[in-house]
Amino acid sequence: MFGVISFFVFGGARDALAKDSMPGARPALFGLGSGRLVFGAAIAFFLAGTAPSFAAEPLPILPRTDWGAKAPSMLMSPQVPTHVTFHHSAAKQRPGKSAASKMLSLQRFSQSSEKLADGRTKKAWADVPYHFYIAADGTVAEGRDVSFAGDTNTDYDPSGHISIVLEGNFENELPGEAQIEAAISLGHLMVAAYQIDAANFGYHQHHASTACPGANFVKVWPLVRERILAGGG
Ligand SMILES: [Zn+2]
Repeated sequence: MFGVISFFVFGGARDALAKDSMPGARPALFGLGSGRLVFGAAIAFFLAGTAPSFAAEPLPILPRTDWGAKAPSMLMSPQVPTHVTFHHSAAKQRPGKSAASKMLSLQRFSQSSEKLADGRTKKAWADVPYHFYIAADGTVAEGRDVSFAGDTNTDYDPSGHISIVLEGNFENELPGEAQIEAAISLGHLMVAAYQIDAANFGYHQHHASTACPGANFVKVWPLVRERILAGGG
């Protein structure tokens, strides 16, 4: 299902993540910084089996092309990432379903106007509201392009936030171990790519009145945050 997908951080560059995977290439690679050079070196890495000098930690991420994402349905607001904000999906974990099918469902919901559980109606969004999705088994999928602001049904401006959602309702379910490890690895990647300030790692409740990301995530948050800020490797 996966190619070998890695983020490569080149000279501390803060460029936005390359959009989707680059055409005609397997494995798909996200590049940071000067795309072609990084991409070429990454291929060399792949062939030679040795890490290029600028390689950060590799993290498998299911790219949009592999889960069959539709293009964004309308214009989105560009953003410069300054925050990393965690969410839960608020829906029961479905470990038997593939991450791809979950992403397709999430995109279908996101791109249409839908009635919410609390009776309100959400408007159609351009794309999934989150930049990354972490399934119950720890699979990480690419959501909205990080260089565009996400969307929310709650009262805060998500501009500048890299939104990461974990599958589950953590009011009554527990985040899985693989899921938490993936969240930490993704956090490391965001620190490396965007130099996110320690104070700007948080979760939805830090910014809006909501139960998200659920009491059981809030309980493990101090440890998650500590491990993200301790760095990878
Ligand atoms: Zn949330």
